Amino acid sequence: MENVVAIDGPGGAGKSTIARLLAQKLNYLHLDTGAMYRAVTLAALRKKIDFNKQDKLIELAKNTDINFNQNGDIFLNGENISEEIRTAAVNKHVSQTAAVKGVREVLVKKQQLLAQNNKVVMDGRDITTVVLPEAEHKFFLTASLEERARRRYQEVKSKNKDITLEKIKKSIARRDKMDSEREHSPLKKADDAILVDTTNLTIEEVLDRMIAIIKG
Ligand code: C5P
Repeated sequence: MENVVAIDGPGGAGKSTIARLLAQKLNYLHLDTGAMYRAVTLAALRKKIDFNKQDKLIELAKNTDINFNQNGDIFLNGENISEEIRTAAVNKHVSQTAAVKGVREVLVKKQQLLAQNNKVVMDGRDITTVVLPEAEHKFFLTASLEERARRRYQEVKSKNKDITLEKIKKSIARRDKMDSEREHSPLKKADDAILVDTTNLTIEEVLDRMIAIIKG
């Protein structure tokens, strides 16, 4: 698939930031698929759906309208929810939503359609393995757990006074475990994806490395 860049990796590895900047440089659309799983999770929280009721989550995913604008903002039934999908409550439940096969089927189809109709940089957990295995460029971005937690902490500490580095580390480790051990589409590196360890790299260095590869 020409004009498609697929990026996977664990939470906090810098995927979304890198994908957004890369999309700007290439003049492609950025699609953050984690935001889509977060949108369904937010909708479920609002409707007070029990996260153990898989049928209800699937029905919700089918009946929820999720859209992006050119800036990468995400809309749930027309409402901009870009900020609200980043709350602790969504963080807590999103991996449960994402573990449901039927929810994944609905969102994967939507993601594949978006990639057919646009030039895209798409990031997530299963983009290089399941959603777009034929993407022209495939990357797996990672970083140490300590570094990923440190980055998240810098991002959120001014907005949330109760947060500590230790709490964030625990929450990321818990999601890493759920995402990589789940039955359906677990997080793993595709054999032909290029591994980029961002632990000791700046955002600019990561971008330069990826663009050099893309431009060949
Ligand atoms: O990338 P982000 O941390 O926003 O993703 C939130 C959650 O959504 C992940 O922890 C994972 O459970 C799920 N996800 C997924 N497949 C994707 C993208 C995200 O299962 N392609």
